[in-house]
Amino acid sequence: MSAGALSTTRAARAAGKLNLLGMPAATLVELFETLGQKSYRAKQVMQWLYQRHVTDFDAMTDLSASLRKELAEIAGAELPPVLEKEHSADGTRKWLLNVGAGQAVETVFIPEPNRGTLCISSQAGCALDCAFCATGHQGFNRNLTSAEILGQVVLASRDLGNTPITNVVFMGMGEPLANYRNVLPVVQILLDDMAYGLSRRRVTISTAGVVPQIDKLAAECNVALAVSLHAPTDELRDRLVPINKIHPIAELLASCWRYAENQASRSITFEYVLLDGVNDAAEDARRLVRLLKGIRGKINLIPFNDWEGSGFGRPSLPRILAFQAILLEHGITATIRWSKGEDIGAACGQLREEVTA
Ligand code: SAH
Repeated sequence: MSAGALSTTRAARAAGKLNLLGMPAATLVELFETLGQKSYRAKQVMQWLYQRHVTDFDAMTDLSASLRKELAEIAGAELPPVLEKEHSADGTRKWLLNVGAGQAVETVFIPEPNRGTLCISSQAGCALDCAFCATGHQGFNRNLTSAEILGQVVLASRDLGNTPITNVVFMGMGEPLANYRNVLPVVQILLDDMAYGLSRRRVTISTAGVVPQIDKLAAECNVALAVSLHAPTDELRDRLVPINKIHPIAELLASCWRYAENQASRSITFEYVLLDGVNDAAEDARRLVRLLKGIRGKINLIPFNDWEGSGFGRPSLPRILAFQAILLEHGITATIRWSKGEDIGAACGQLREEVTA
């Protein structure tokens, strides 16, 4: 029995209930030991929560009636309340979740022929203020808890029924590495065989470049990394992705190579939003080639998704293809990410929500 779990239990009794969603496996084990239970109870509860999407202790039929009752007294598994669900003509689905204080976050499911990707949010709003991003424009409200982040996966899994979530990407609202403390337990549960059992390459953290946390992640949980580069020079990147003023391109790329080394043979994805007349010139593509030549990585070009008042535009199709062609000619793998779900405002960078009612 550990002092940590004991105090957690006491605190729970005093201050309301513990939320078991997002609780690390080791803490859950401690909790059951504290309750005088066998440690395998943790495994049973995790399977109920994450494999069967059951959050009501009463329905956890392989736990004794007395344990279910005791659990219900001290703990819960609260999912964020759903404000709205939307279904796009292209199959994309979106959930709008109430996280209190007039704030909402979004979760998006993107079905593709051989996979189903869930895009989750890690913060209500975002503090990084990237010039072209709707979420950044709305400002920062707060970090989501591990329960609120993982709750998105539970909710979506439940609603999707037999359609499996094969990939999870932290590309919804917020900067996941700025909420590292709450994101890490979620990632660990996504990888845990007792929960979702996803492989490391099927969980992607996308970051605007919080360098110290990239190194931390490399050491603690080496999942797939996507980096929002968006500009080939510091001068331009300072304007588009302001965190560049703190961690400029050279520093960011050095941390990416350290990360890739840790992953053995795996590579980094660089995201590059194409903004008409801003970062989409042939010269920008050539600069990008010089920056990334010979690297273990690929570039994901994202044609800008417009939102009202953005002040940016999407380049024409020929311009997008010409940019890609320069990268390909120089041996750099470059794909274009045509966003899904634009009709329901679910595309990259369109996530901006406030509850007005
Ligand atoms: N904070 C993380 C996750 C952000 S969302 C990060 O910066 O990586 C995922 C991607 O969508 C990022 O590359 C982000 O820069 C990009 N994005 C933001 N707004 C966009 C827009 N309006 N159109 C296209 N992509 C956008």
